[in-house]
Amino acid sequence: SHPLLLVRNLKKYFPIKSGVMQKVVGYVKAVDGVSFDINKSETFGVVGESGSGKTTMGLSILRLIEPTDGEIIFDASPKIMEEIKMLEAKRNLNERDKKRLKELKEKYNLRKKSKKDMLNIRMKMQVVFQDPYTSFNPRMNMRDNIGVILKTHNHKLSNKDIDEYVLELMEKCGLAKRHLRRFPHQLSGGELQRASIARALALNPKFIVMDEPTSALDVSVQAQILDLMQDLQKEMNLTYLFISHDLGVVEYISDKIAVMYLGSIVELGTTTQIFEDMKHPYTRALLESIPYPDPDKKGSIKPLYGSIPSPRNPPPGCKFHTRCPYAKEICKKKAPPLVDVGNGHLVACWKYVEGAYK
Ligand code: SF4
Repeated sequence: SHPLLLVRNLKKYFPIKSGVMQKVVGYVKAVDGVSFDINKSETFGVVGESGSGKTTMGLSILRLIEPTDGEIIFDASPKIMEEIKMLEAKRNLNERDKKRLKELKEKYNLRKKSKKDMLNIRMKMQVVFQDPYTSFNPRMNMRDNIGVILKTHNHKLSNKDIDEYVLELMEKCGLAKRHLRRFPHQLSGGELQRASIARALALNPKFIVMDEPTSALDVSVQAQILDLMQDLQKEMNLTYLFISHDLGVVEYISDKIAVMYLGSIVELGTTTQIFEDMKHPYTRALLESIPYPDPDKKGSIKPLYGSIPSPRNPPPGCKFHTRCPYAKEICKKKAPPLVDVGNGHLVACWKYVEGAYK
């Protein structure tokens, strides 16, 4: 399958202001130059602790938060996507290639689109949040909560059309006719999350950012929602960016996984590469701190050493060095590059840079 989304060097810096004059005294680098591809119909998982920048990154891709810098290439034709990737991979670009690559990126970069263009593009890019209660209007029933979106995008729809279409969407997500007249507070957490997914599907999107969609739910309901998402993905050819702090959930749902720490991707690979051959000490620490459901293994839970440093004042060099048991001198001074350790498995750690880790 071909790429649907290319993210290149995406940054989101929030200014830190101080004093009566609100002078900018620094920046929180919430997302500090991340790059990756998401292929059509795949689930790209992003995992990290709170403060890792994963939600800011997801919302920046949709421009619900305005990115500071970088490229977001979305939904160009497969041929154009391949051409961009081919040009990026070329070693010595000649002037013509350089010009062509720049042209293509200008043309398809979402950051260069006008507000009006973005309105149309957003129909294809949706988001589902962790807390469905806050994202619905409490004074509207579910039919109107979802119907209002359909009406805004197509004024010609009759009330009957909307009734039918909303019901169809709700049924697709495992809800029934009786749920239509209910208000958000009359639905359970799981039902409401089903309704948020139905709403996200209303405009027939291609890409959905799922921001901790199951984190507020009971474990048994969590599994049902994950299964629903997978069924819908197959049926509608959807592509997901799935954000979670829960490595177990991410493993279950994702084809590829990026591990984020303080605004940067520290490891990226297929789910198999990450779970069977993890390289980064942070990924390992995250995995070891997953509580096992097996009571015999209870004693083996190792909490992650120390807490995540403030993003306002991240450590120099490798940002993980303050918590890393393997840190050496170079780690405190220089940030490690993201290197390919085989078959596209990327790791940012000096241990994997030949000759550097001494
Ligand atoms: Fe640990 Fe150094 Fe690797 Fe960072 S670069 S994860 S501090 S070994």
